Amino acid sequence: MGQPEAPPFAKIALIGIGLIGSSLARVIRRDGLARHIAVCARSHGTLDTVCALGLADSTTTDPRQVVEGADLVMLCTPLGAYAAIAEAMAPALSPGCIVSDVGSVKQCVIRDIAPHLPEGVHLVPGHPVAGTEHSGPEAGFAELFQGRFCILTPPTGADPNAIERIAALWRQAGMTVEIMPAQHHDRVLAITSHLPHLIAYTIVGTATDLEEHLRLEVAKFSAGGFRDFTRIAASDPVMWRDIFLNNRDAVLEMLGRFNEDLTALQRAIRWGEAEPLQEHFIRTREIRRRVLAARQE
Ligand code: NAP
Repeated sequence: MGQPEAPPFAKIALIGIGLIGSSLARVIRRDGLARHIAVCARSHGTLDTVCALGLADSTTTDPRQVVEGADLVMLCTPLGAYAAIAEAMAPALSPGCIVSDVGSVKQCVIRDIAPHLPEGVHLVPGHPVAGTEHSGPEAGFAELFQGRFCILTPPTGADPNAIERIAALWRQAGMTVEIMPAQHHDRVLAITSHLPHLIAYTIVGTATDLEEHLRLEVAKFSAGGFRDFTRIAASDPVMWRDIFLNNRDAVLEMLGRFNEDLTALQRAIRWGEAEPLQEHFIRTREIRRRVLAARQE
């Protein structure tokens, strides 16, 4: 009988253990990807839950303590916490350690983390494009990542071996890995994810501001499209605050284009222009087919 294979990582430190961090912890546990999972969160309540779920070998509220001896540190907190965490953990990072993350915006990760990292520590930012509107460690599940894309945005000159180890981790979770510059990621996600969330937050807010009697009708007849918006607009408020604040330029650019197109549709409706309206809807229906074909549904 041969020796059992060593796990790809000796100690993985997860900083933040909500929906995404706990889903990844479940994959690491399920597939034996680390000898030790160390978890850091802000609250003892979250750490108790994680222990009860069997997802941690050790827990702490101290980012410096959790990274000691780790060969992989994965940040899974809202983006606004990154800079302070990076500063706190930096002195305890081991040489050769990989620092990665799951944040939904990528240029800000390089901006907020890279300046704190000591020589010999590798930064490989990542974004598993998978999620739900739920938060917290109990909301996670190992299959969350299955069949979805993970985008890695290593800075120029990043260590190829470190990139490959992170890519292998996400492939093990069932994801297809793509590599692109952080700036490109942020523009693509601004239109595919961030703007749709902004629209949902807006429309649900608009409906809520309507008079009381109309609001009741809105809830009652919400199946007509509104319900999907309410699901999206129920996403975590802190996470989305940080996404908009940290991807400001790309979101504002896409929002400008969106406003122009909306005005064109508004005009067509006002002037009773049936053809342009119908042509637009035919084109968007075709896009739906392409999205389904790309298995992103
Ligand atoms: P979540 O469920 O709200 O969990 C956030 C976790 O971060 C909690 O464990 C929280 O600890 C911890 N945390 C917050 N501030 C912290 C700090 N200063 N120090 C240490 N821990 C801290 O969030 P999530 O949905 O997993 O999202 C996490 C990241 O994944 C975000 O950056 C987001 O952009 C990205 N992402 C999310 C999705 C999605 O659909 N949700 C998809 C792809 C990527 P406590 O519980 O103790 O407060």
